Amino acid sequence: MKQLFSFFKRKTTERTKPARIINHQLGPKVLDPNALKIIKTLNANGYQGYLVGGCVRDALCGVKPKDFDVATDAPLEAVVKLFRRSRIVGRRFPIVHVRFGRELIEVSTFRRSMSDKVVQDDKGMILRDNAFGTLQEDAFRRDFTANALYYDATNNEIIDFVGGVEDIEAKQLRFIGKPPTRLAEDPVRILRAIRFAAKLSFTIDPAILKLVPETAKRLESIPPARLFDEFLKLFLSGYAEIVWRQIYRTPLAKALFPTCDPTSELVMAAMRNTDDRIKSGASITPGFLVAVLLWDDFQARSQEDDIEDDPAFVVLKDQQSSVAIPRRFGTFAREVWMMQERLQSRNLRSVERLLTHKRFRAGYDFLCLRAESDTALEIYAQWWTDFQEADENGRKTLMDQLPRAPRKRRRSRKKRKPGEGDVHEAGDS
Ligand code: ATP
Ligand code: MG
Repeated sequence: MKQLFSFFKRKTTERTKPARIINHQLGPKVLDPNALKIIKTLNANGYQGYLVGGCVRDALCGVKPKDFDVATDAPLEAVVKLFRRSRIVGRRFPIVHVRFGRELIEVSTFRRSMSDKVVQDDKGMILRDNAFGTLQEDAFRRDFTANALYYDATNNEIIDFVGGVEDIEAKQLRFIGKPPTRLAEDPVRILRAIRFAAKLSFTIDPAILKLVPETAKRLESIPPARLFDEFLKLFLSGYAEIVWRQIYRTPLAKALFPTCDPTSELVMAAMRNTDDRIKSGASITPGFLVAVLLWDDFQARSQEDDIEDDPAFVVLKDQQSSVAIPRRFGTFAREVWMMQERLQSRNLRSVERLLTHKRFRAGYDFLCLRAESDTALEIYAQWWTDFQEADENGRKTLMDQLPRAPRKRRRSRKKRKPGEGDVHEAGDS
């Protein structure tokens, strides 16, 4: 432990001469052939080209990279000319997307962070940054030391200006530069820290963790659509439970989902369930987690007497200012919520029909998950499990167990004469 803290105290040494590491396990076997092809083409046209960021970090950790990023000194316009299926995307940080079949590789021109072209707000948050720079400047504008390593395919070297290789070996996540400045420039970096630490079992620098509360507040100024992208990466990458455990006791949970009770057992169970589904190759949708995270609020709103709008609509609308939920996932959540009541009441006439509803599966999974933390719901979950597995006779038996709905009193069809049957209070004339 002592060693760990002294390690964190080490300052990011601003190496002008980078370390060049050759005894590593990377190479064409681990790395993506298409990304290496891009680098070859760049080199053949007189440009530098390196693999950078998550792919180098993950590969060094023995994890298969999920995508590949290339950094180059070629201007974006020159990059687009070199690759047939490519285009410039992004306004805040423009980059080039190059497609190879279904694979997408992101190519970015070296940038620097200290320049009059970097637009910041009064709190130091970077609004735009498209000042181009050298390889070294590009390394220093990146967030974590582990994310600032360049793989040079021409000589199989890793170029390291910031001590990233040592940090990876020690499984430490540290910012390049001072944590308060780096978090003020971009508060989303706190979520990135938690995500990378969860994915790679790294320890986060305590100096970063200390800033969680104030950074959580700053997330208010981040566009909700960007937070949705980050939400997807945090919770739909196979390590949602670790991420949730890291944030649920901090103000980050409320910053993302203000109405959610972070200690809810249902939420924790859903995170675990999402990870299990990913591991087993089952399908996942963000809509399901949205339904879980906003369920308590939906229930509370549904019980309000004076609510005029559809409670689901109000719940989803209020959420939009933190993590914006795209409409189709909001609709999914609403359908899952609406199904809960129907799954519990098991109306005899609509039981079979419910089974064919397009959200039956999700609604049923949601009910089972709720039953894990609420024993009163177990009978409903079990009934539906049995019903799905039963043959025709079995289903009939299960239906016979259901309580008959009390018969509705039929209205008399006899036409009433005006005034007949009206109730008169004593004293009425
Ligand atoms: P993954 O692809 O697994 O999510 P990654 O590290 O590749 O992880 P990307 O979002 O693809 O993350 O970004 C690629 C690289 O760009 C990062 O490794 C980092 O060097 C740099 N980068 C991305 N976002 C930021 C940011 N907000 N601040 C500073 N540097 C960033
Ligand atoms: Mg990446």
